[in-house]
Amino acid sequence: EILRCLVGSEMCIRDSTGRKEQGTMAEELNLLQKKILSDGVIKPGNVLKVDSFLNHQIDVPFISELGKEFKKLFFGKKVDKILTIEASGIGIACLTAIYFGVPVVFAKKSAGSNMDADVYATEVKSFTHNKVNHVVVSKKYLNEGEHILIMDDFLANGCAVEGLMDLVSQAGGIVEGVGICIEKGFQGGGNALRSKGVDVKSLAIIEKMDAATGTISFR
Ligand code: 5GP
Repeated sequence: EILRCLVGSEMCIRDSTGRKEQGTMAEELNLLQKKILSDGVIKPGNVLKVDSFLNHQIDVPFISELGKEFKKLFFGKKVDKILTIEASGIGIACLTAIYFGVPVVFAKKSAGSNMDADVYATEVKSFTHNKVNHVVVSKKYLNEGEHILIMDDFLANGCAVEGLMDLVSQAGGIVEGVGICIEKGFQGGGNALRSKGVDVKSLAIIEKMDAATGTISFR
């Protein structure tokens, strides 16, 4: 069911005050799209809050269904490890890793410096906090020749994914693909990655959202 998506469908979503408007089309939305429409809240600054099921409170059976879907989407790919970034990517990464039977590594936001010899390090501009994070992974957990599936809860401008790709590249690994729950297509990060040949798969791609009217449309 989750693979079916109505192109250009437009529905209303609760606005930041919790108001809910009538939708125009309900059919053919996938599980995640429906959940976004029922439980998501659009905040000013092009931020979608999905705290009630994805990245604060976690609806484990639901996220596990998304994990199963990622396994189908990346079927046939060699995946040795899933790499994500703390904190909000960890839930979906773990509930996907169960279906791949591989470990999850999460990059840590650290106050340390680039001089630390035991870690691969990169800089990631945070979309939600508007600051640059120093992000590290221990050299023990990313190795040359490993096939890595990168995952995150959201894809906006692509900084988090680019940072994770940089870490894999420093280790001499291979990025097999990028699995994203919610891509905000209008922010361009996904398209930029795809144009470089990266296999980006997102379960829901938001084409447009408007905090003032509380509307959202999916690609
Ligand atoms: P990017 O690095 O692609 O610009 O942004 C992706 C990262 O920012 C993700 O790790 C995610 O945690 C956070 N993020 C970006 N947009 C949103 C959003 O609309 N809602 C939430 N909750 N997180 C977001």
